[in-house]
This record gives sequence, structure tokens and C-alpha cells, in this order.
Amino acid sequence: MPPDDELTADLANIMPLYLQLRSRGGVLPLEDAEDQAAEEHTETITERRRYRLHRSVERDSSASRKAKKVHGYICQGCRFDFETVYGPAGREYIEAHHLTPLAELPEDTPVSLDPREDFAVLCANCHRMMHRKDGPRTLAEIRALARVGAVQAFHSRLRGPER
Ligand SMILES: [Zn+2]
Ligand SMILES: [Zn+2]
Repeated sequence: MPPDDELTADLANIMPLYLQLRSRGGVLPLEDAEDQAAEEHTETITERRRYRLHRSVERDSSASRKAKKVHGYICQGCRFDFETVYGPAGREYIEAHHLTPLAELPEDTPVSLDPREDFAVLCANCHRMMHRKDGPRTLAEIRALARVGAVQAFHSRLRGPER
């Protein structure tokens, strides 16, 4: 063991860093540039923290895993099916989206994590749209936006001749 005063000095050095890290929303890095861009739309540290909580709930929680089992693997916005388009690589791939915009709730509001009621499953594109500032916020809205015709056009292009 190092002498006590050395430990005390180390602790004194670490504490401010630790507090800074906590105030920034934790140790997990944001996954990608889109998340960082979305986060820039949050106005306060509280909103930012809640946004990160939102994304970590969607990515890692047992509730989000259960939501995928409950809702299945076809996008509830545009009906995109990863397995149909990507084959085995797309099997059981979907993203869970928590339907309550946590960043807009007052802090310390209890957040419900019911896999059936509080989550939807979305393809990556629809999920991005749901997180855009001024984007759709409900399943009804994203469905209306992802019009059937647009999706059919996309799929018929996919089936088209190879270039
Ligand atoms: Zn979709
Ligand atoms: Zn989401």
C-alpha cells in the first residue's frame, strides 16, 4: 500500500474529474455523431442527462430487450424487415425506442419502462427521425410520414437489376 498522504493526494486529484464526468452524463461515450448532433439540441444539462439516460435505456436495458421480443423485429414505423432485406445478417435486428421523450420531462419524474406500453421497435431510419428535433414523436406520426408508396418504391429499387 502507498503511504496515506499519497492516497489522499490521489483522491483529491480524482474527485474533481469524477464530478466533472458525472455532470457530463457518465462514462459511456455517445455512440455516434448523430447522437451528438441530437444532443446539441438539448438546451440544459438536465435535458442532456435525460437524453443520455433515454438512449442508454433503449440500448442496454432488459426492458428494451423484452420490448423487442414483445413487438417483434419489423419496424412499427415503415414495416421495414431487416431479415427480408439483409438475410441472416438482419435476423432479429431492430432498435427499441422509448416512447416518452424523457429529455422533455421534469427531472426526477419516474419513468415507466413497460416493454409493451412504453416501447416501440423501429428501423434505424425511423428511429433517427423520431429523435430529430421537430421530428415525429408518436407511432401514428412516423407511420403517416413513412408512406406506403415511398417504402414500396424503395423496395422495388432494391429488387431492380444490378448495376
Ligand atoms: Zn422504419
Ligand atoms: Zn429512441
